[in-house]
Amino acid sequence: MPTKMKCSVTVLCSGSSGNSVHIRLGDTSVLIDVGISCKMTEKRMNDFGIDPESVNAVFLTHEHTDHTRGAKRYCSKFGTPLYATKGTLSLTPLGSIEKTAIKSSDVVRIDGVTMKSFPIKHFAAEPVAFSLAAEKVKVGMASDLGCVTKEVVDHLKSSNLLLVEANYDDRMLMSGTYPEFLKKTIRSDHGHLSNDDAAALCSSAATARTERIVLLHLSRENNTPAMAEEAVNGRLQHDGVEARLDVTEHGSSKGPIRL
Ligand SMILES: [Zn+2]
Ligand SMILES: [Zn+2]
Repeated sequence: MPTKMKCSVTVLCSGSSGNSVHIRLGDTSVLIDVGISCKMTEKRMNDFGIDPESVNAVFLTHEHTDHTRGAKRYCSKFGTPLYATKGTLSLTPLGSIEKTAIKSSDVVRIDGVTMKSFPIKHFAAEPVAFSLAAEKVKVGMASDLGCVTKEVVDHLKSSNLLLVEANYDDRMLMSGTYPEFLKKTIRSDHGHLSNDDAAALCSSAATARTERIVLLHLSRENNTPAMAEEAVNGRLQHDGVEARLDVTEHGSSKGPIRL
């Protein structure tokens, strides 16, 4: 049996104040989204001993500023190539940095890693999620999705490590202070995933290969890490999924999560 390739994931920030996830497979590493300032991204990377210059590529999921805020500065400072869909590129101010348009269903090879993009439903121009694979290791990540399609489940299926959005607790959102239109948007098929939606997605996508699951993009106002954990762990236990669950806190970093 060949030894499994080294994999580590560090969530630099998660939630509406900024999202950025560093994923390393073997000697190749990428950042998915740079939604905090470049300065903060560097600081958090330094805290985890990650050299910003070692990142092979930046991938953007969609144009919302909580996913793109620091991307231009980061890529120009470190000369990192950026990949995003045409729709995302058209609405993200990126200046003259090196950028490549990908399709919403695409396959890009970054050194030894195969990055697959797949379309998701979210109120953005051309949003995508990603799965990464190298040798026998697969990491799947899907955040900012209004609903779970069969395509999303198929792409995340059998990931060794899964990162999934768990944005809100439905009761907390409905009894909270958000205006009605906003509650409706968040709950719509183009908004965000509730804890229960996340639980169902994790349960359908996880297999015996799935060792770790990380919950992302928790709302500060409409969720708590304990509620998200209870909803998802309850479902995983009920469905006999043995993966270990980690929950990110709004605005905080977490990692490294290693396989
Ligand atoms: Zn977001
Ligand atoms: Zn968004």
